[in-house]
Amino acid sequence: MGSHEVLRRVFGYDSYRGDQQEIVEHVIGGGDALVLMPTGGGKSLCYQIPSLVREGVGVVVSPLIALMQDQVDALRDLGVRAGFLNSTQYPDERSLVEAEFLAGELDLLYLAPERLRVEQTVRLLERGKIALFAIDEAHCVAQWGHDFRPDYLALSHLHERWPDVPRVALTATATAATHAEIAERLKLADAKHFVASFDRPNIQYRIVPKNEPKKQLLELLRNEHDGDAGIVYCLSRNSVEKTAEFLNQNGVKALPYHAGLDSGTRAKNQSRFLREDGLVMVATIAFGMGIDKPDVRFVAHLDLPKSVEGYYQETGRAGRDGLPSTAWLAYGLQDVVQQRKMIEDSDGDQQHRRRLVAHLDAMLALCETVECRRVQLLEYFGQGGEPCGNCDTCLVPPETWDGTVPAQKVLSTVYRLKNERRQKFGAGQTIDILLGRKTAKVIQFDHDTLSVFGIGTELNESGWRGVVRQLLAQGLLAVEGEYSTLVLTPGSEEVLYRGRKVLMRREPERAAKVRTAKPK
Ligand code: ADP
Ligand code: ZN
Repeated sequence: MGSHEVLRRVFGYDSYRGDQQEIVEHVIGGGDALVLMPTGGGKSLCYQIPSLVREGVGVVVSPLIALMQDQVDALRDLGVRAGFLNSTQYPDERSLVEAEFLAGELDLLYLAPERLRVEQTVRLLERGKIALFAIDEAHCVAQWGHDFRPDYLALSHLHERWPDVPRVALTATATAATHAEIAERLKLADAKHFVASFDRPNIQYRIVPKNEPKKQLLELLRNEHDGDAGIVYCLSRNSVEKTAEFLNQNGVKALPYHAGLDSGTRAKNQSRFLREDGLVMVATIAFGMGIDKPDVRFVAHLDLPKSVEGYYQETGRAGRDGLPSTAWLAYGLQDVVQQRKMIEDSDGDQQHRRRLVAHLDAMLALCETVECRRVQLLEYFGQGGEPCGNCDTCLVPPETWDGTVPAQKVLSTVYRLKNERRQKFGAGQTIDILLGRKTAKVIQFDHDTLSVFGIGTELNESGWRGVVRQLLAQGLLAVEGEYSTLVLTPGSEEVLYRGRKVLMRREPERAAKVRTAKPK
């Protein structure tokens, strides 16, 4: 069968989408390919069809072990002879698949990457006929990326062992640096690169200041997504549980999902989410890779993602059907403090930590931008564009204001507190001092006698939290140690002593004005 015939007869589609046809033909012709395509773009067909057209078995390397059974079942339903090998199988199941492979009775074989570290698997592959290698989630090979998996490094040897077998590497998330690293590590020097636009025009991006996150979420759901399916991401298992409970108490059907639940419950919740209408999945980022549910109408983040790649990937699960959808993130001072601290406490070398900092800084820049969110997001992936007219900053442009004086006030307070022996103070104490509040802790440490006491009456508490948050985001202030003590940075000194100006973002009154248009 030709490739069009396979597309129609096997998969039941009339035509290719985007670059699919070009990619399919290139790989059928024996060429290597590096495919960057957003979630929902249709990456699977790019290796599935060539696997069916070329002689031999298409070997698909994927880290998504939990999904292999489903993927294989779905292919078998279409009449495609598919199998998988991973660590969850019993030895006799594995032997069966191996026998099918050797007998030439498979079209597609899904492999977990760690299988390729096992010499036995490599020898098995050498005894069969391979149509192509597909390397899914190829960004996992990049150490600079946000989702590095050491097992992927073994994939650099595929080319030496099978120089004549075409390889296609695919990912939905890659900055220019990650893109280059994938090509280098996978030895794809001669590969043709297919880079689709990363824009997801039907997703409306919104990032709001976090006050009472659960209530804000409920308001979003009630006002704009009543009865819709969606995903709510939280950082911790505990907040997943609490948020799911809160939603259920308030009449929103919600299910929890995190790595602390037993695998039976996880599988059950996942399949309910996929099958039933209008369920909200409250989850840690353990949930979502490879989930193909077209009508997810919103993705909400109650905590700050660690990187723009992560944010893009998670929000990308909304609106795969192309209908209007919302990506909503609530973000506040505590997020910055917490994430900076997590980086400080993380294992790993200096270089690893620098990477985490760079990822977080890019995410913070996206949160604090006064420009179009979409443009900023796409620029991060090396693409650009015109302001979109459909994100919060386009719809209600935030103002910038000269925050130099309030910044100096915060920084001088931090400087004064630094001189206190052995005592460590965080944002709360700093703000109490600026506002001239005689709290017990202020009195206890005689902070009402500091020259900065009460000099900050021009802003209220939330205004000051905004200033501290933006200083942290801009690297003009840092947190340190067990108590998240505020400390000065080289940048702070420029503001304090060398007249550096600080531009800040003023949050517009926008809740009422920004709405996602409802499909239906
Ligand atoms: P990705 O892996 O890029 O996230 P998938 O390969 O899972 O995307 O495809 C996303 C959805 O689009 C799937 O439901 C798939 O069946 C559908 N799809 C892919 N290609 C086509 C096409 N040419 N015509 C119609 N639907 C398609
Ligand atoms: Zn915009």
